[in-house]
Amino acid sequence: MFETGVRQFRLALGMVQGRRLDPRNVARLVDDVLATLAEFGEPGADAAELVDGPMSSPEDRLELTNRALRRTARRLAARSPFYARRFASAQADPAKLDVAGLRTIPVTVKADLIERPGDFRCTDVPAYLATRTTGTTGRPAEVWLSRYEMELWPALGALAGVLRGETRPGDVMQVNLSSRSAAAMHLSAAGCRLAGAGYRPLGIVPPEAALDGLTEGSATILLTCPSYLGELVTAARRAGLGAADFRLRRLVVGGEVLSASLARAAARTFGVAGVEDPYSMTEIVPVTGRACSQAHLHHDLNLGLTELVDLDTGEPAAPGALGTLVITPYFPYRDCTPVLRYDTRDVARCLPDAPLRCELAGIPAISQILGKADHLLRLPGGEVVTPRQLIEAIESLPSGPWPARYRACVGEGTARDGRIRLTLPASAIAGLGEAEARRHFAAAGLDVDLDIVSDDQATSLRHTRSDLHETTFASQHALVGA
Ligand SMILES: [Zn+2]
Repeated sequence: MFETGVRQFRLALGMVQGRRLDPRNVARLVDDVLATLAEFGEPGADAAELVDGPMSSPEDRLELTNRALRRTARRLAARSPFYARRFASAQADPAKLDVAGLRTIPVTVKADLIERPGDFRCTDVPAYLATRTTGTTGRPAEVWLSRYEMELWPALGALAGVLRGETRPGDVMQVNLSSRSAAAMHLSAAGCRLAGAGYRPLGIVPPEAALDGLTEGSATILLTCPSYLGELVTAARRAGLGAADFRLRRLVVGGEVLSASLARAAARTFGVAGVEDPYSMTEIVPVTGRACSQAHLHHDLNLGLTELVDLDTGEPAAPGALGTLVITPYFPYRDCTPVLRYDTRDVARCLPDAPLRCELAGIPAISQILGKADHLLRLPGGEVVTPRQLIEAIESLPSGPWPARYRACVGEGTARDGRIRLTLPASAIAGLGEAEARRHFAAAGLDVDLDIVSDDQATSLRHTRSDLHETTFASQHALVGA
């Protein structure tokens, strides 16, 4: 206990002053917490503050944020060719940067990373691991990570995980993400090792193989993406499996919009209380966001700054307005290919200017993610329809069409002028017919014209992460050329 306290104090100090942390000390702290839990059953009173941040007042928070920004900017100006030029052209003094001044520096976009990857690499850090984005939006960006980062992040993650009771010795985590998500696979494996949990990396394999791991393989934690979760729920129901067949205690997804109807169905089928939907993204690791029971997304205050930037003005989004998440990971948590003001293009809504009443009320929040900025539909009257609105409405159709396959645009021509033109595969509206399906969408606030296509066109309507199939010799899908 005493040793734990001392190391906790050192870690907290490291977070405030921004020295590079020693990942081995963080890993030892995880061991101490596990030993404390084994002996006393709970980690101690100051544990939550350590991982959520000592952010009691907005003034303290602002002061800590400004200091973190300055130490990050000073390093980027000295070591990152891209940001050295960017600060110079914005005439920004890194040593004086604060939250207000940061807004004068243009956001960094994915195209910058793709076109000039070498310019982002800091000159004083050897690169260890290249990870590529595996999202469905265009060419991948490659991000190089250092050995220090790959040791530090799982240690910080495992520390938060064991303190919050999210990961325990004896857990078995099954991961059904693309095996090419190098960073996500490495980090989840190392996190399990540190927390004393088992780890089963499977990839996007045929759903039946994943279900075997969840039943006979006794996984207690499943990490996947919403589209693959949809395929798993459908496959489990088809196989007659239900809550009693699984040992899962946590179901965690990320990287795509998770609809409420799929979350409810998955919780019921797999026998968990709910589906956890935290926010993360390759380009801005290790910064994350946490979802609460009221579907807010709460910021990660320790590791980075999250701004919500108005899509039209570039200024901070006003209460009720839509904005794109712009994220700055802080030094010393990110050091090999750091980004500053990275525009994720993930859209959320600024919450009303009123006190929060959820279990994470002390931590600033925005709405849950509503989809990618480039996929918003702008109707002639000024109304904006988000991908989440469409996905929520489609995935709540009685047929349970998970993951939602659709194409949406604003209709043109006299009969369709300005209305949403929504293309769906026939099976999505099975049992309803077009007229009733249109009423379903109207009840969700969506005035749509439907185009129904055959099911064999479904996957071409909208790509999802579950389309990154990885074949196995045990599956029929693998018989190509056999
Ligand atoms: Zn909340």
